[in-house]
Amino acid sequence: MRLITLGTAHGNPTLTRFNSASLLEVNGALYLFEAGAPVNALMIRQGFDFDSLHGVFVSHAHEDHIGGLPGLIKSLNKRPENAVKTAVFLPEQQTVDAVTAFVGATHRMWGEHVLDMKVICPGEIFRDENIRVTAYLTDHFSNENKSFPSYAFAVDAGGKRVVFTGDLSRKLEDFPLAAFDRPAVCVMECQHYRPEIAGAVLSKLPVSRFIGVHISDKWDKDPAGFAAALGEHRFPVELAADAMEFEL
Ligand SMILES: [Zn+2]
Ligand SMILES: [Zn+2]
Repeated sequence: MRLITLGTAHGNPTLTRFNSASLLEVNGALYLFEAGAPVNALMIRQGFDFDSLHGVFVSHAHEDHIGGLPGLIKSLNKRPENAVKTAVFLPEQQTVDAVTAFVGATHRMWGEHVLDMKVICPGEIFRDENIRVTAYLTDHFSNENKSFPSYAFAVDAGGKRVVFTGDLSRKLEDFPLAAFDRPAVCVMECQHYRPEIAGAVLSKLPVSRFIGVHISDKWDKDPAGFAAALGEHRFPVELAADAMEFEL
């Protein structure tokens, strides 16, 4: 299994980072976690084939996580009719409606064979011959005193687990603890909390490896400082950059 961090910026793109998007490659099939812009361009630049994209999983409706969807859908639309149908999981019905309306307004509505859009519910949301994906409700919007759904995802593949936290709340009271009922790689956002708080949470869990994404400006300049501020931890800590690959 391979993780490719296509885009690793916090909420705004920077000089060196595009918005959130990570690919998981399992047995040659691709699964996309977050669809920040310009995700289709980044896939093309790194030589990934849209024919292999089986699933898209978006944690919440903020534009830095869904902004690449119209371009991605255009690229999916160009696949041959016998290509795999992509399952696209979005956090809210209004997100589905908005993306559908936007793509419709650009007169590039997808064919029936191209993709299926579904609204996420907590629990198992996807299973195929390669992976199983479970969604855990988080509370990212509490940072703005709002209440909309946001999700973390646990992926089980080949006896391994990878957890994508999505964006979280400042105090990490919504950290998806239940996803760590077995050893797991933690692919975690590094923007909305102080690392000391994360260190206290993670040190009690069977985290095998920490890979940081959604990197704040502070930790972009000082990745070693992030790892140090976590406090004592037994797992390796890496902060990802755009276009990095990790063998998991
Ligand atoms: Zn974000
Ligand atoms: Zn967000």
